[in-house]
Amino acid sequence: MGSDDEGGGFEVETALTRLGRKPSAYSGFVNTPVFRGSTVLFPDAETLESREVEYTYGRPSTPTTRALETALATLEGGAKTFLTPSGLSAVSTALLAFAEAGGHMLIADSVYYPTRRFASRVLKRMGVEVEYYDPLTGAGIAGLLRPGTKLVLTESPGSQTFEVQDIPAICKAARGAGVPVAIDNTWGTPLYFPAFEHGVNISIQSCTKYIVGHADALLGAIVCDEASAAAVGSAHEAYGLTANGEDCFLALRGLRTLAVRLARHWQSGLEIAAWLASRPEVAQVLHPALPGAPGHELWKRDFKGAAGLFSIVLKPCPKQAVQRMLNALEIFGMGYSWGGFESLIVPFDAGPARTATVWKAEGRALRLHIGLEDVGDLKRDLERGFAALAEARA
Ligand SMILES: *Cc1c(COP(=O)(O)O)cnc(C)c1O
Repeated sequence: MGSDDEGGGFEVETALTRLGRKPSAYSGFVNTPVFRGSTVLFPDAETLESREVEYTYGRPSTPTTRALETALATLEGGAKTFLTPSGLSAVSTALLAFAEAGGHMLIADSVYYPTRRFASRVLKRMGVEVEYYDPLTGAGIAGLLRPGTKLVLTESPGSQTFEVQDIPAICKAARGAGVPVAIDNTWGTPLYFPAFEHGVNISIQSCTKYIVGHADALLGAIVCDEASAAAVGSAHEAYGLTANGEDCFLALRGLRTLAVRLARHWQSGLEIAAWLASRPEVAQVLHPALPGAPGHELWKRDFKGAAGLFSIVLKPCPKQAVQRMLNALEIFGMGYSWGGFESLIVPFDAGPARTATVWKAEGRALRLHIGLEDVGDLKRDLERGFAALAEARA
């Protein structure tokens, strides 16, 4: 059938409508159905012994999970995908795959906080020497690599503070030392940051964010190159990780609209970031796609687009004034996660978690996710918030 995914030759917008689909296998129905199942029956004793069948058991894969695995591997340009029940479990599994007592791991100081929590609670107890590094170090990573270094974990831009890392330079240095590099590529997405072209070995997605895209499922993916697939696959298998079929179905559905949603998040996010940069209440906008913002030059060099997620630093004001501002908002919701259709805002202080760098902001910081709403409505909402802020300070 013409719309079966034959895996090739199309532009990404077209590929997104085809990947992970095989209507000819499902009586012509357009979408890969949700398979629920543990047991898979083998046709005879000989096959049971040889295991030469497509599916052996529900835990390693079903047609639903495999459809998403192949779609993500193709989109990212990797060799193999391993799905996990959340983005965080994708990060922790990738780290565990390379963890060993006495080994050394380099983790960017700006990583997603729960990643850091995993490193300090679990990796350290296993005897891994975890070293945090300045995310802006670039080629300087060469000076931190040791004979016992097992993995370099990057995340670009960094969570909350949006430092853009020089991934090609880091990968070049690590490759020279034979050390694999992983990236938490959730912000860049498979569309906007071609991680494997830039030299990484493992690209991790919290599919919970833009891939699912509707705040209705948690899911993670580890996409590996040939060289790293065995280690990651072995850890993934040993831990018995699976991804729920319903959630994979939602991720596959999310892929169909990913390009158009992302374009809108990018455009609206940038417009609001530029508008915020001109507001008297705002000291700094941390959005790598905004000209003049930190990391912009590297973003322009390495990224093909931008997420709708960025931060601002307000001019100094009391905490209660910021709370009044947040409480006055009608459209922006206060809640964690991002990548869904709706706009969100949360205050943060990145300072306490840092060890290799100092994150100091004079005023209070807010992280915004710009959703799919009308930009005019969003600006009016933020104006309502700024009015409440001014009132609280008066
Ligand atoms: C949200 C997030 C994760 C974790 O994803 P979950 O699906 O919520 O576990 C990991 N990395 C980054 C950068 C994230 O924003």
